[in-house]
Amino acid sequence: MSRAARIPRVPVPCVVAAVLAAVLVSRPPAAPPRQTETFTGCFDTAALLIGYGRGFTADAARVRARAEELHHLLDIYNDYEGVTNAKTVNDNAGAAPVAVPRELYEVIETGVAWHGRTAGKFNIALGPVPRLWKECAARGEGRPGPDELAAALALCDIRDVILDPERQTVFLAKPGMSLDLGAVAKGYASRLAVEEAEGAMLLNLGGNVAVNGPPADGRAAWNIGVAHPDRPNDPSQSLISVAASGGAVVTSGDYQRYHYDDGQRLGHIIDPDTARPGALYRSVTVAGPDAAICDILSTALFLLPREEGMKLAGEAGYRAIWVLPDLSIADTETERTMDHQ
Ligand code: AMP
Ligand code: MG
Repeated sequence: MSRAARIPRVPVPCVVAAVLAAVLVSRPPAAPPRQTETFTGCFDTAALLIGYGRGFTADAARVRARAEELHHLLDIYNDYEGVTNAKTVNDNAGAAPVAVPRELYEVIETGVAWHGRTAGKFNIALGPVPRLWKECAARGEGRPGPDELAAALALCDIRDVILDPERQTVFLAKPGMSLDLGAVAKGYASRLAVEEAEGAMLLNLGGNVAVNGPPADGRAAWNIGVAHPDRPNDPSQSLISVAASGGAVVTSGDYQRYHYDDGQRLGHIIDPDTARPGALYRSVTVAGPDAAICDILSTALFLLPREEGMKLAGEAGYRAIWVLPDLSIADTETERTMDHQ
């Protein structure tokens, strides 16, 4: 008997029907409709939520409430009734240790730990220095004098942030010291807040994009664009897109907050070694599992030479993307530099 003769013959109409049935069965259910919500009032920035379907409204309310709660806790500018927050710690500088809520302690402890890992570039005790620069930014001009910068910098030693893990207290040892949590707070809050959603959710808190899993529309990952620094509000101008099925994608950029002096653009990320704004890059984006670490790294990498930043991101297991002054891109994933077309 020939080989071909042993294969059972199936009538062609049956095969067609079977294929059709398989296609019908395997067709994915219609994706739930995409929903968005924007809100302000958290961390002095605009927030965007993207989710799907009927559970979105309740999810969004939970995420927003958690983001607001964390904003109150990490705020260095305002008091809130019944809340011991970062401002309380600053108000007690040189006077007394302050027992703080768990989340605030965790942010400060994490911040102190990353000072060493970033060669001191990430410094939550830098408060007095950014405050001087923010006063200039509020006036829309000028820069602090060298003497006042030096005096402020003398109050920024991370070793003067005294933590007691048992009592969960924080003590700023010298009067005039102050914490500035601006470079980690939004990342940390975005991570905790997005976890409040039961359905698939993306939260963008002022450039800190955290997701709680893949989107619910059948795609394996969200695509998060790295903004063009001169057209940050136009998503169609994004320089590159980063896929995220969990974790976060966080950007620090010179376009997020800045002012001019003598025609020179002065950004809001301050190099603790010079007390002056860093100007090596237009932006640094960091992607990885923990939004707080992404936030810390994006600020630190903004100030570090690229080789050092590549090494730090690699060791931590995070992807980093630099946008250079000529708008070309460097990426730890490809480890090569691409010219922007
Ligand atoms: P980000 O946008 O996350 O890079 O954070 C920038 C904000 O963090 C600034 O607006 C300051 O409030 C604060 N900041 C500036 N420079 C530093 C620094 N070297 N380390 C820690 N925080 C900083
Ligand atoms: Mg940051």
